[in-house]
Amino acid sequence: MAPLVRCSHCAKNFAVSRWDQLNGFLVPCPSCGIFNGRSWNIRAVALAGLFLHVFSFFLVMRPARALVSALAFGSLAYLTSSVATSGAYPALEVTWYVLFLLSPIVIDAALLVRHQIKLGQPSSQTPVAQTTVVAAPTHIRPK
Ligand SMILES: [Zn+2]
Repeated sequence: MAPLVRCSHCAKNFAVSRWDQLNGFLVPCPSCGIFNGRSWNIRAVALAGLFLHVFSFFLVMRPARALVSALAFGSLAYLTSSVATSGAYPALEVTWYVLFLLSPIVIDAALLVRHQIKLGQPSSQTPVAQTTVVAAPTHIRPK
């Protein structure tokens, strides 16, 4: 059975997948449409990026996207490695290794920032019944 979480906004319970709960991924509440999830720790995400490299994508992305991203990263690294590490351009080789080692951390950090911004914000799938019509301010009128 999928675990239940309590919405931080409307306090209603709803089901999330175990993987979503484990990683604290953003899941929109079916009642109010607010993104629920766990606040991510920047140090944990940076360490995962450093030691797990592309496998850290599985901690910050859902499995299908993480797999595609890891394969794309690996393919790009493989295609560029023969040119960059041929030994003809030492500076290019050093740059390639630095980019290869640090890119997953930068990607993870960017996703962490996006996650933290969206946490507690309304999703685009806000239920129609819950949307409120905000009246236009009356003091701003075209002349
Ligand atoms: Zn809710």
